Amino acid sequence: MNCRAVWNQVIQRAADVVLPPVCLVCGEEMCPSHDGLMACPLCRRAMSESRLTACYRCASFYEPELHHASGCPRCQGEEFAFSGATALGIYENELRDCVLGSKQASHQALALLLGKLLGERRRSILRSWQPDLVVPIPLHWWRRVRHGYNNAEVIGEVVSREAGAAFEARLLQRTRSTRPQFPLSAAERRRNLQNAFRVRNEFEVGGSRVLLVDDILTTGTTCHEAARALHSCGAREIRVAVVARASDTSHG
Ligand SMILES: [Zn+2]
Ligand SMILES: [Zn+2]
Repeated sequence: MNCRAVWNQVIQRAADVVLPPVCLVCGEEMCPSHDGLMACPLCRRAMSESRLTACYRCASFYEPELHHASGCPRCQGEEFAFSGATALGIYENELRDCVLGSKQASHQALALLLGKLLGERRRSILRSWQPDLVVPIPLHWWRRVRHGYNNAEVIGEVVSREAGAAFEARLLQRTRSTRPQFPLSAAERRRNLQNAFRVRNEFEVGGSRVLLVDDILTTGTTCHEAARALHSCGAREIRVAVVARASDTSHG
């Protein structure tokens, strides 16, 4: 450990004595965490699904006895341009509040927390995919200006470190502003997002395994369209990691 790291730890310990850390999710005072994650053990558990089985294709969670080798009841018959997906948990309760909060630039600490939890809890599957590149789902530039930042970028950068892959924040570009997805039918969602993504540097993508990162996965249309753009530039394999898997289609 270098001098600066030791000094930072000393300052952190001193700050913890004066101002005990609080959980970013529930606001309760907590013991200083050895890993620097600002979430209490209860909230970490509440946000990370560990009881249910996850579908390897669409990351939906369901009872273990409903396991299907060809995907779960929600995604059988769906065509995805990505070949696997994983999620930290279900889009509800604490995880939903945290994801919504992380969309605001003033709450980037929440995005860091979510990225760290996703990377840690799903580390083995992420590493087994051996991605070369981690690419966040981009916002259209105008929406990015309005939000002040893109939470998927912060989440993706943290996940890239856990997955041991290069982070490419600007590889994908959203070429046009699209309507919100949540009021649309499945067919309308696909039409709404068709050709909405462009790869900036094709040479970087050829032959590589890409991990797409986003905050929520609902129908999979956004990641499907992003994966299609990457495949058209020669990407070999594309997988998806999201913080939250929505259990119905009424979310964005
Ligand atoms: Zn908490
Ligand atoms: Zn599925």
